[in-house]
Amino acid sequence: MENDCIFCQIVAGEIPSERVYEDDRILAFRDIAPAAPTHVIFIPKEHIPTLNDLQPGQSELMGEIILAAKEVAAKEGLTSGYRLVANCLKGGGQEVFHIHFHLLGGRELSWPPG
Ligand code: 5GP
Ligand code: ZN
Repeated sequence: MENDCIFCQIVAGEIPSERVYEDDRILAFRDIAPAAPTHVIFIPKEHIPTLNDLQPGQSELMGEIILAAKEVAAKEGLTSGYRLVANCLKGGGQEVFHIHFHLLGGRELSWPPG
């Protein structure tokens, strides 16, 4: 755990969150500033700062996050579609430096994003 990382503190329960999915390696919780009716953040419990820090041995962990997001999307009733995105580094819009994927849905989503 990184003591100054907001998402590590959420994993530890030191910052409250509305959890929507959890297993031994993954946590998903609702975004505090939702950009869509469904906006859920998926993270590995392990602190990995950015996509650029991923190692080959972590590919299965990333796949598990995508499968968890698919399950939550179904539970949230996102039958017409949704978006799963990860911002990487400041130029990619990343503000929290603990890898996370945004699940967005419940409204029409335009492309390309800003
Ligand atoms: P990023 O810009 O790094 O891709 O996304 C970070 C996301 O984390 C933002 O959508 C922001 O609203 C969310 N966020 C930041 N701090 C907290 C928090 O303390 N609790 C929750 N639930 N979400 C947070
Ligand atoms: Zn962290």
